[in-house]
Amino acid sequence: MIVTIDGPAGSGKSTAARRLAERLGIAYLDTGAMYRAATLAAIRRRIDLADHQALADLVRDIDIGLDCGRPGDGGQTRVFLDGLEVTRDIRSAEVSEKTSRVAPVPGVRNELVAHQRRIGAELVRAIGGVVSEGRDQGSVVFPDADAKFFLDASPEVRARRRHQEMAADGETITYEQVLHQIVTRDGADRSRAVAPLIVPDNAQVLDTSGMDIDAVVDWLADRVREKRPR
Ligand code: C5P
Repeated sequence: MIVTIDGPAGSGKSTAARRLAERLGIAYLDTGAMYRAATLAAIRRRIDLADHQALADLVRDIDIGLDCGRPGDGGQTRVFLDGLEVTRDIRSAEVSEKTSRVAPVPGVRNELVAHQRRIGAELVRAIGGVVSEGRDQGSVVFPDADAKFFLDASPEVRARRRHQEMAADGETITYEQVLHQIVTRDGADRSRAVAPLIVPDNAQVLDTSGMDIDAVVDWLADRVREKRPR
């Protein structure tokens, strides 16, 4: 079984996808982590982010490894760059900001989309299914998924959630700065030429603004069961 969850930053999709995967007893694939790892590699190698050819060459050259864990172990994804763990490094504000410049590059996306399909197929074989989360999972990567979702929420709600997460991680940033980052990042993700953030065909849309995470996961699990009754 393949389930896709797409949506903008702060829509609650990461937590929802991880918890839905746990609930269904299948794997969770965090594709944003792969774009973040590619961006971290570009920063470390001091690649000019305007040089699309260099970015495409870089992504072919590096090894992005994901340990998606197994259902029941909390669903924490560990991320490796050329064998070294970068799970925390890819969450910095610098990487978050610069990923929106690396992700639109066609050569980068081609490589990572192929990588995501390989990992997805492997997780289906090993664990029986995957909840794949990102911006283009239902539209581009797994268009024939068994169930597709698009989660959204107002920019203010998304900024408040993100700000709380970052404050909990010890980052000193104001709510207004987070809101500005979210609006800028959304604009870039929605307006880019390749694989823009859109509601995929046949995706079910949920506005999570007034919902807590348990209600979101319940709603998603109910929709999946309607499609795939056990
Ligand atoms: O989901 P997350 O916030 O970690 O994603 C970081 C960035 O990676 C997004 O802002 C987006 O630019 C990019 N991304 C993407 N396609 C995906 C997942 C993430 O372009 N499937």
